[in-house]
Amino acid sequence: MNEYDVIVIGGGPAGLAAAIECKKSGADRVLVLERDRELGGILQQCIHNGFGLQIFKTELTGPEYAERFITELRSLGIEYRLGTMVMSLGADRVVKTMSPTDGLCTLSAKAVVLAMGCRERPRGALAIPGTRPAGVFTAGTAQRYMNMEGYRVGKDVVILGSGDIGLIMARRLTLEGARVHAVAELMPYSNGLTRNIVQCLDDYGVPLLLSHTVTGIRGRDRVEAVVISRVDENRRPVPGTERVYDCDTLLLSVGLIPENELSRKAGIEIDPRTNGPMVNESMETSVPGVFACGNVVHVHDLVDYVTEEARRAGRFAARYATGKSFADGNVVKTAAAGGVSYVVAQSLRESNLDEKIELFLRVKNVYRNAKFVVTADGSPIKTFNKKIATPGEMQHLTFDSALIKGRSFRKLTVEVE
Ligand SMILES: Cc1cc2nc3c(=O)[nH]c(=O)nc-3n(C[C@H](O)[C@H](O)[C@H](O)COP(=O)(O)OP(=O)(O)OC[C@H]3O[C@@H](n4cnc5c(N)ncnc54)[C@H](O)[C@@H]3O)c2cc1C
Repeated sequence: MNEYDVIVIGGGPAGLAAAIECKKSGADRVLVLERDRELGGILQQCIHNGFGLQIFKTELTGPEYAERFITELRSLGIEYRLGTMVMSLGADRVVKTMSPTDGLCTLSAKAVVLAMGCRERPRGALAIPGTRPAGVFTAGTAQRYMNMEGYRVGKDVVILGSGDIGLIMARRLTLEGARVHAVAELMPYSNGLTRNIVQCLDDYGVPLLLSHTVTGIRGRDRVEAVVISRVDENRRPVPGTERVYDCDTLLLSVGLIPENELSRKAGIEIDPRTNGPMVNESMETSVPGVFACGNVVHVHDLVDYVTEEARRAGRFAARYATGKSFADGNVVKTAAAGGVSYVVAQSLRESNLDEKIELFLRVKNVYRNAKFVVTADGSPIKTFNKKIATPGEMQHLTFDSALIKGRSFRKLTVEVE
């Protein structure tokens, strides 16, 4: 009974959509493994709205968005195990799990979908000088405490990092009666979505200090103050610009890291630019039969894209599990150039392409009147114009696969002008 067609690791939006698509595409025995106490992943703590605009054409909260998929998963009779941590993924897709109810279990599958999401960069990764008092949280941890466990994390707050989680927490804490003194951002631009800067900071009068960072934490048992300094163009603090903010809490919103310990141990090739598995057009990793989707592959801004990507992974995982072969043929590698920091998928097998090719990417700087140029073996094949492209917003380029099919290109490059 421990053999499955497809095992999905992670029950967040990526895992849920992948499992549903697997089942709909003909895989019979599909299992979702989730370490948390409920399905839905990070969405369960995102009680603000703004989810589902692309897919459902309506604004949902995170739990509402997740609920739609959880209901469908249950109606399709897809098996899932909660409180179940996947400890390892071995050769031949053998999965070892640990749970308080079942202990150590060994499962196997014809195909595996990785959907473990990502985790937040902690204080240790930043080397902020100062004492080590209580009251320093990552923004996502604070969000979980407040929205799921019912604890208010602080009354006087400074936030470091203007990624979306930090921005959303600035509003959340303000609504709960805390005073958010400032959001400090190392870069000269915010990494968050523009709508979040407007709706979470501007609307509540929370100052955004661009080109600033935290250079000290004070306090013995609990945070008593943080020091914020301006940084120069090399991102080094400028002496003499220190300003002390009396506060009891510091939230860190300084980046997310795809959760790939399992993937690395399984020998899956990782892209150093995304920190996620290299994937092809089918979202298959370098290990045959192991697929990946969602934040484990690259950090997404909108969950709708996670869902679309996961559906693709699920469809192809089912195809692999049911023994339908993939045509190999010519493989086109993708590459980022100029101001583009990465491109997903990293390779495209020409004969497996759908009618449309979808590429996900991010830019390194803020570009106004941006022109994205897709080049095949040195010749431009498609351009896209965008009013503005910022590092905080994922870019999504879709074009006809007829532009490359049957032409035996070797390399597809995307750059921004
Ligand atoms: C604060 C915040 C605000 C956001 N706001 C918006 C918004 O307004 N609109 C929007 O569209 N998107 C928003 N997003 C983005 C969206 O939530 C993510 O893109 C989406 O949740 C990613 O889905 P995922 O399934 O890849 O990862 P996750 O949701 O992180 O799910 C991964 C799951 O895998 C499980 N897992 C990990 N490792 C293991 C293991 N070894 N064994 C078993 N289970 C494991 C985890 O417990 C988790 O449940 C927001 C995200 C955050 C953090």
